[in-house]
Amino acid sequence: MSSKVETLKVSAPRKAEILKELYPEDLFGYSHELTDGEVEVLRELRTALEKHLRPVVNEYYEKGVFPFDEFYKVVNDINFMGDDRLFEGRENKLKTSELFNMFLYLELARFDASVATFYTVHGGLCLNTILVGGTEEQINEIVPKLRSFEYQGCFALTEPDHGSDIAGGLATSARREGDKWILNGEKRWIGGADTADIIPVFARDTEDNKIKCFIVRKGTPGYKAEVIQEKGSLRMIHNNHITLENVEVPETDRLPNIRGFKSVNDILTFTRADIAHLAMGVTAGSFAAAHKYVTQREQFNKKLASFQLVQEKLVRMQSNVVANLAYSVQISKMQEEGNQLMTNSALAKMHNSLNMRETVALGREICGGNGITLDADVIRFFLDAEAVYTYEGTHEINALIVGRAITGIGAF
Ligand SMILES: Cc1cc2nc3c(=O)[nH]c(=O)nc-3n(C[C@H](O)[C@H](O)[C@H](O)COP(=O)(O)OP(=O)(O)OC[C@H]3O[C@@H](n4cnc5c(N)ncnc54)[C@H](O)[C@@H]3O)c2cc1C
Repeated sequence: MSSKVETLKVSAPRKAEILKELYPEDLFGYSHELTDGEVEVLRELRTALEKHLRPVVNEYYEKGVFPFDEFYKVVNDINFMGDDRLFEGRENKLKTSELFNMFLYLELARFDASVATFYTVHGGLCLNTILVGGTEEQINEIVPKLRSFEYQGCFALTEPDHGSDIAGGLATSARREGDKWILNGEKRWIGGADTADIIPVFARDTEDNKIKCFIVRKGTPGYKAEVIQEKGSLRMIHNNHITLENVEVPETDRLPNIRGFKSVNDILTFTRADIAHLAMGVTAGSFAAAHKYVTQREQFNKKLASFQLVQEKLVRMQSNVVANLAYSVQISKMQEEGNQLMTNSALAKMHNSLNMRETVALGREICGGNGITLDADVIRFFLDAEAVYTYEGTHEINALIVGRAITGIGAF
């Protein structure tokens, strides 16, 4: 068991100093709206990530394996989902503030996109599915255990033959037999499904043709999750191909408030904003790593950062970070007010992902040859950005969601 990271005592000027040190790329000072407690948690999280995960991140990336032991050491040092300081003064004790949620994605994805993706399937997709779909009893059983990481959660929606068209195409079936359900079908790409304790599976009721959600628990007979091998992006997170063969789920493990794809959209409205934040974090991580590199390496007897062409690229990256932060902060404020719309989440995910893709390419470019090795710390962001660009609605699908809203014409 590792020793706890020393708790930080924050005074007002010290808070500004800490934020400058943590997020120098936040030129417009969005982070200043975080509470003292939230800043303390983020600072302790940074320390724990650097202590436990930094030494192994490249090794695990090469191996294509998730560093579970080191990740849980981080959680042991600082429970970034459940620490009391995150709920000080909040009426809603089930969720942290949306602004903290956004900065949590910045913190995790700025470090590594696989780590942030592992978190998003657990603390974003799974948690929101239980909150949106569950009864009070189900929420009371599962949510505290997700928060403390006693349960690991995931989210099984996509199928081998239905990705972008999952809303209409979902083929996994659920047949009721008395007080239990029988699930059959396949799911694809499901993050963390080989190790998860709680697997919310979306399936179509054979009787009324409606989409429902069932909690499949670890070890249920007929459930198989195989890790997809040889990925060139997000190599550390385990994405799985799931097969469900006559998997039995008791009626008590059906989430009764998931009634059709509209409920799925309610979950995705939150989680698509999460991925906008995650893309923002990847943008910031690439910028921070490239900034460090060009201010250290010399060519022509000068720092790379002293060349005008390099500075122009660096500033384009910086401006993308600020623009992505602006989108993320505004959408998190709207969500805090209960004003969440899929159109806005889709717009933010599309915008931040486009900026992310440009930024990680520039970051890779200004680090030259070393930019393709893990050493310079930009190639992980470059490769991982491709998966982030695709999941939670591809660029095209998010564009079509916004296109439909602004023209009144569905063009899918
Ligand atoms: C690393 C990773 C992790 C993931 N994790 C999860 C998870 O945990 N849980 C989960 O349920 N799912 C997960 N997914 C699935 C993800 O949401 C899907 O990959 C995504 O929805 C796209 O589906 P698809 O890959 O089948 O692409 P397709 O739908 O086959 O699309 C292929 C291309 O065609 C384009 N296209 C499709 N339809 C149209 C159209 N009408 N007009 C214009 N262009 C179109 C798409 O934009 C895309 O460029 C993950 C995916 C990845 C890659």
